[in-house]
Amino acid sequence: MHSKQVKKIVIVGGGTAGWMAAAMLACRYSREDLAIQLVESDAIATVGVGEATVPGIIQLHQHLGIKESEFVSATNATFKLGIEFKNWSQLGATFFHPFAKYGAPIAGQAFFDCWLRLKQAGYTAKLDEFSLSIALAKANKFVQPDDNATNQLAMFGYAYHFDATLYAKFLRAYAEQRGVQRTEGLITQTYLQADGNIECVELASGEKIAGDLFFDCSGFRGLLIEEALQTGYQDWSHWLPCNKAVAVQTINEKPPTPYTRSTALAAGWQWTIPLQNRIGNGYVFCDRYISDDEAIATLTRNVEREMLTEPRVIGFNAGVRNKFWNKNCVAIGLASGFIEPLESTSISLIQTGVEKIMDAMPALEYSENTIASTNSLNQQEYERIRDFIVLHYKASAREDSAFWRDVREMDIPTTLQNKMSAYLKDATFLDYGQESFKDASWQTMYNGFNLYPQIPPSNVADLDVQQLMLVAEKMRAAIQAGVAHAPSHAEFLSTLADGKF
Ligand SMILES: Cc1cc2nc3c(=O)[nH]c(=O)nc-3n(C[C@H](O)[C@H](O)[C@H](O)COP(=O)(O)OP(=O)(O)OC[C@H]3O[C@@H](n4cnc5c(N)ncnc54)[C@H](O)[C@@H]3O)c2cc1C
Repeated sequence: MHSKQVKKIVIVGGGTAGWMAAAMLACRYSREDLAIQLVESDAIATVGVGEATVPGIIQLHQHLGIKESEFVSATNATFKLGIEFKNWSQLGATFFHPFAKYGAPIAGQAFFDCWLRLKQAGYTAKLDEFSLSIALAKANKFVQPDDNATNQLAMFGYAYHFDATLYAKFLRAYAEQRGVQRTEGLITQTYLQADGNIECVELASGEKIAGDLFFDCSGFRGLLIEEALQTGYQDWSHWLPCNKAVAVQTINEKPPTPYTRSTALAAGWQWTIPLQNRIGNGYVFCDRYISDDEAIATLTRNVEREMLTEPRVIGFNAGVRNKFWNKNCVAIGLASGFIEPLESTSISLIQTGVEKIMDAMPALEYSENTIASTNSLNQQEYERIRDFIVLHYKASAREDSAFWRDVREMDIPTTLQNKMSAYLKDATFLDYGQESFKDASWQTMYNGFNLYPQIPPSNVADLDVQQLMLVAEKMRAAIQAGVAHAPSHAEFLSTLADGKF
């Protein structure tokens, strides 16, 4: 099949997506082989939110050769061990989603299965008590995991909270040092070739910028992928009805927590994201159940602290672009689709999106087959994340507002239905491939929402309960001892700034 050479990539947009793409491409390809030009407009602001991440970003930074202490100081970052979910399963209930597995296998069997067996036999220790990262988070402590650890109890992942604007600036410096050319200007026109591929974009100044491959990082509007190529959008709002967020920054009166907080409210949920110098807050809501003014009033009331910015309402529509890669245009970031930020997946999708393109083009050429297989992977990845997020609503037992009653009753995707049925039957975790959230994350949710299988897993049915309990208790004690030695999150941040880590 005829393949196309890529000698120049034009990136449209200079938000988190545009500069992440620029940095990753500049690190991967030599400037002799590939020219990269990024166009952004000072007249169009970036979305300005997007401050919580998942652990993939650690590997990304290692790959880019970014020093953690420099990044943390440049972006006012804090560390993130996971997310605390308040009032999700019911009012007053809390659970924590760590970036880690629980416990360690016992007698060769998965810890979760053993714990289910113990729970069934009357053991009262909570699943949370078998996670070092949850114990650290509860104690407001942080320490990096030991990369050489052989004890599974000491293995956990972490991520960051950071200032999105500062992050884009940080990556811009990185990318420009590696040859990325930045052009400031408002794109007013996109020209297509006769075969439907993009020929060039035109700026208000009249300058035309041509390329072989275009990355549309222009945000929700999808300047190239939608406005020029009319790719179409799969609307998932019947599964994910939240369609707006109001965001506000407040002062940080207390030491930052090493985790994000997500608090379920009457018509959605509120995020609390601690940075070193301030807190990012937002209420993600569905405007069928609450007006913008009511959402602003609720958030303003809940944050309690002095506000540093005016509350700002942002609209969105859950779903994914019909094609991630259409003709010679790839959509990255908000231009490619959006799943609400409940599990901080958008920045991760930028990373995996660019990785997919680079994996598909090791020699900087592509064919129709490359496009089709990359699109299929992207669609699957989005659907898997969608299902995981939908579970957060479907599994809730809340009945105190119309919003919660409706999401409990809604139809869910068949793929999610199958996963829930397999788990509830006998603790089987289905894996459809391209799963961003592994078994431990599903265990967190099922346990957090008090969902347990009808039949205990058969692989642990014959294990001796007393023996299991002895081993489990040793794990619990080891975790508590591990936490006792860890520094507070604030101490860790200041020691990192002093260059001692
Ligand atoms: C409420 C909310 C909360 C979120 N929270 C999180 C989170 O906690 N974690 C997470 O991972 N993600 C989160 N996200 C998603 C995250 O914000 C985005 O994935 C990320 O910021 C990438 O945005 P972007 O770069 O695609 O678009 P934008 O930030 O919108 O950037 C678009 C760029 O395109 C340029 N542009 C547009 N039109 C033109 C034009 N005509 N000419 C020239 N340039 C143009 C603009 O100047 C800008 O530089 C959140 C999103 C929302 C809406």
